[in-house]
Amino acid sequence: MDKYRVSPKEKVKLQDIETEGIGSKEEAVAKFLEINEKLEVLQERLYSEGKHKILVVLQGMDTSGKDGAIRGVFDGVNPQGVKVANFKVPTAEELAHDYLWRVHKQTPGKGEIVIFNRSHYEDVLVVRIHNLVPDKVWKKRYDQINDFERLLAEEGTTILKFFLHISRKEQKERLLERLADPSKHWKFNPGDLKERAIWDKYEEAYEDVLERTSTEWAPWYIIPADKKWFRNLVIGKILLETLEKLDIEVPPSMPADEVKQYQQQLENE
Ligand code: ADP
Repeated sequence: MDKYRVSPKEKVKLQDIETEGIGSKEEAVAKFLEINEKLEVLQERLYSEGKHKILVVLQGMDTSGKDGAIRGVFDGVNPQGVKVANFKVPTAEELAHDYLWRVHKQTPGKGEIVIFNRSHYEDVLVVRIHNLVPDKVWKKRYDQINDFERLLAEEGTTILKFFLHISRKEQKERLLERLADPSKHWKFNPGDLKERAIWDKYEEAYEDVLERTSTEWAPWYIIPADKKWFRNLVIGKILLETLEKLDIEVPPSMPADEVKQYQQQLENE
């Protein structure tokens, strides 16, 4: 899975990076099911152990499949202990604070997995592209973000960041699909067309994010995301490998005599 990982300071040219994925859908789906079962077990352990904190950041162009990845990868995982934090246009109260204020509040506690659907990276993406703050303000944010993530990591949070990489052509197809199906109209946002028109600007802003904020303590992974089944497989696998490395402890069982004592107590009721 290392091939999807961006090394610190690595140059990234998104147009040269695969969006398609490899292999057959059948095989990927079968492999994913195995991974998903293991993830369920590890997540339960993580929750019962109450020690590790896991933060998963999802970013990508509109329609890149952030919602679908959350549904797919965490399918069947016990919702207790897994939370999703959505970052939308900031409220007045959020804007009155620094941009990390709303983010820090949502970071995982012990035993939790938190998935960020969009994140503090919007503050160097949409904010940069639409000039929502002056250049000199957003340009400082890469270092600030690295420092913030280092703080989280040093305090025991494992951070994984996934950029869902779709092609411009695939985005067009997904938008057309939404328009063709009335039951999907709620997903269509006319604003997405305006953002699509400045795809190149987003690409450039994403390249800067990937080059400047992939660190040892909070790496970025570029996930080929044109095929939903491949996207879920790769994210699932990276997540599983990461959880396996944490050596999460199996919850201890009770000594046999203690079990017996409680059993007797119940039976003698
Ligand atoms: P999504 O597209 O993620 O399904 P929405 O349609 O509600 O959900 O979009 C959320 C919007 O909020 C996006 O357009 C995103 O760029 C915007 N947004 C998120 N964070 C910020 C921010 N810090 N400043 C400005 N806009 C933001």
